[in-house]
Amino acid sequence: MSTRSTQVAIIGGGLAAFTAAETIRRSGADALMIHPQSPGATALWSGLGQAFGPAGSLLPQSAGSVEAAERVVQTLTTDRDERFAALSRRRPFHPYARWGLSRAEVGAHLKSALRSLDYAGIERVDEEVVFPTAYAAPYSADIVATSTRQSAITAGERVGVVACPALADWSAARLVDALNSTRPDTAVVVEAAPLSSLPGASSHSVKVATQLAAALEDAPGTFAAALEQSVDAHGIDLLTLPPCLGRSWTEHVEIFGALEDVLSCRVAESAAARNSIHGWRLDRYLRSRNALEVVSARAVSAAVENRSARAVNTVSDTVSADAVILATGRWIGRGLPGSAPLREPIFGVDLWLDGGPIRNPEEAWPPRLLEELPWGDHPLFRAGVATDETLRPLDLNGAPAVDNVFAAGRLLAGFNPIWDGTTMGVDLISGRLAALFALEYLGIAASREEMTS
Ligand SMILES: Cc1cc2nc3c(=O)[nH]c(=O)nc-3n(C[C@H](O)[C@H](O)[C@H](O)COP(=O)(O)OP(=O)(O)OC[C@H]3O[C@@H](n4cnc5c(N)ncnc54)[C@H](O)[C@@H]3O)c2cc1C
Repeated sequence: MSTRSTQVAIIGGGLAAFTAAETIRRSGADALMIHPQSPGATALWSGLGQAFGPAGSLLPQSAGSVEAAERVVQTLTTDRDERFAALSRRRPFHPYARWGLSRAEVGAHLKSALRSLDYAGIERVDEEVVFPTAYAAPYSADIVATSTRQSAITAGERVGVVACPALADWSAARLVDALNSTRPDTAVVVEAAPLSSLPGASSHSVKVATQLAAALEDAPGTFAAALEQSVDAHGIDLLTLPPCLGRSWTEHVEIFGALEDVLSCRVAESAAARNSIHGWRLDRYLRSRNALEVVSARAVSAAVENRSARAVNTVSDTVSADAVILATGRWIGRGLPGSAPLREPIFGVDLWLDGGPIRNPEEAWPPRLLEELPWGDHPLFRAGVATDETLRPLDLNGAPAVDNVFAAGRLLAGFNPIWDGTTMGVDLISGRLAALFALEYLGIAASREEMTS
């Protein structure tokens, strides 16, 4: 058993934890991260994220396993003021409301959080535009993977969707049908070797991306030539590539660039379904760029005295810390339990749902907190760690349970990410805020850049 000490211990290795880590690092405070090698939900990111609120009802429905006939467009808006107002009406206990953030403050924090991550693979979207998704539903995105940036479709444009049978989650025909159902003759399927003839059917885009890189090494130029023919034949303005060939993956930068040079239209990689390559790239980037020491293990418990966390324990290390950032995500990374007792496992903090604590955590049965239909607004998805306005977890009575622990990311209570249109926004903003409040608690000034941004 080894013992270390630090000013700030950051528990977690996803988007929220790394956003916090970067802000802490810039302040010069002594800090370390605690997380296992295995990634969390960040590695599943589809390439599109939201921060300002719900855009409509289509995505929640299409994100469930539904047949095309059951997909009904009810509303879709890109207007950010309207979306933020809808969020405020729908979720009085949303984290933004708990922290007292206005629409403008959400925008400002988002900008700063993305700037501090400094990842060329992610961009903020300032225009109010709609992106097609791998599920074929339109999506008003506030944050996009750089590869997908060009995939927003403008009225009157002709779109070529490139087929890739080897990628099981990618249905070019379905996306084309969906696009044509809203505007006839908008889209066509484009078949181009070697992408159209890669063997197998994998739902893992990283595997298909590797196959493609190998095939293109054997026959460079053939892919671009095949695409060029289709672009000319169909008068294509925008070519949407399956999510396995992007501009932010080192192995594909050149291939993507060559396509942009040769083709007379815009070229974009599509957003993805689950097992997304966009999330995988983001996760790899965050880990490779991290400058803090990492204790590579799961935190299993914490020592708390007089409402102050003194140390975090893994199976082999004890990390004593003056402040702790808790950013352990939900079930994918095992930050929250999937069965009773429904409590945050490291600090034993009670979980909250819609403005109040879950009163019977020992007996709570998660399936009772699920709606009947898969795309329903499941209460279970809104259950999590509630915080005060400085991100300290609340106890059963609504008072901070611990004074020097600051919670961030998907483990927070009060929002259903898909329904509420704040998927990535909450992770990024809470990661930044948790770091700023931890620094304030320690009396350490944030970096000049953080203060002015
Ligand atoms: C299937 C799926 C698809 C999604 N698609 C999208 C999307 O399209 N767009 C979007 O914006 N968002 C999407 N999300 C949500 C998004 O991925 C998450 O909100 C975000 O990545 C959460 O970041 P996080 O840092 O809070 O948690 P995570 O990324 O889950 O990170 C948690 C980290 O904590 C670590 N951890 C857990 N327990 C411990 C412990 N005891 N000790 C130490 N470390 C621990 C985990 O190993 C992991 O590294 C999706 C989520 C899922 C599940």
